[in-house]
Amino acid sequence: MTPSFQDIAEHVVRDYRKRKRELPWRNCGDAYSIWISEIMLQQTRIAAVIPYYQRWLARFPTVESLAAAELDDVLAHWSGLGYYSRARNIHACAKELVANYGARLPQSAKELRALPGIGPYTAGAISSIAYGQQEALVDGNVARLLSRVFAIDADIKSSAAMKELWRLCAELVPARAPGDFNQGLMELGSLVCTPQNPKCSSCALRSVCQAFTSNRVEQFPIVKKRIRDSDKTLLESHALFLRRRGKILLAHRQAKGLYGGLWELPQSCARAQLGALTGMSLRFPRATSLVHEQVLSHRRLKIHVWPTAASGSLRPTLGSSYQDMRWHAIESLAELGMSAATRAILKRSAELE
Ligand code: SF4
Repeated sequence: MTPSFQDIAEHVVRDYRKRKRELPWRNCGDAYSIWISEIMLQQTRIAAVIPYYQRWLARFPTVESLAAAELDDVLAHWSGLGYYSRARNIHACAKELVANYGARLPQSAKELRALPGIGPYTAGAISSIAYGQQEALVDGNVARLLSRVFAIDADIKSSAAMKELWRLCAELVPARAPGDFNQGLMELGSLVCTPQNPKCSSCALRSVCQAFTSNRVEQFPIVKKRIRDSDKTLLESHALFLRRRGKILLAHRQAKGLYGGLWELPQSCARAQLGALTGMSLRFPRATSLVHEQVLSHRRLKIHVWPTAASGSLRPTLGSSYQDMRWHAIESLAELGMSAATRAILKRSAELE
């Protein structure tokens, strides 16, 4: 049986209006409050978020008050929630809203996605919940729920499955009450269609759920076994952060191998080798102020970044790792091919001042 999209949307909205939990950011219709709550709720439980959210709104009640605040103050109000890039992005975004958007969050998901720290999920949430725009969203709860309703026959974390989920959500989201529909999907996924022992007997979608009606609930979502992060090989290195007259020193990887052909901060497995690598005399601080950690599909990276003072001219020793090393103007960095790790480090370079 192929469920009708309209039926699904109606079931979801009706169920949400019956079942929804009262939360401080619900029913306010204020884009700023919804934005802050959505960012805080990423990776964090609702109960933990509520006191942070209330303190935040008391201290920064508007976009303008947030944009005018010192970053230290903003981080202090985030302290304990973790993933601090979220707070830095919120602050940067508030400044951009004041500078270019009249201190208001734009209505369209497309414009929202162009702002710092706002991805497709958050853009869909703000646009549909605050502004009533017919925009879709997919989070982990929605993905699990719909993988069961539509019996999606692909690894739920794969890009093919995600593409299909976004397509389905875009077709499902109704023109009327898109915010209630999106919140209803998330609420059903989180309270009813739980990872273990979903409560099918009290689910509003059981008559249209393909997994339930074909008695295959246990088979969905399909999750391919992954290597545990802790079992992945750790690649630890030391990177040089060196700036001179508006330029930054970058090394160009050999074409083959990990990050082949990309530019990065000059790196070595030992800090002591960085001087020989550049041919300059280097003076390091006592401790790094930045350690970048990242999990790749088969490896873990840990990069200690050293803001360094240097004397002498650049005389690089190129070899198996690098084909070139040179100074690049900071404003031209966007044009260079770089790994996500290097971009992430450069984005955080303010921490190295
Ligand atoms: S019927 Fe069961 S499996 Fe299907 S959506 Fe509802 S809770 Fe999930």
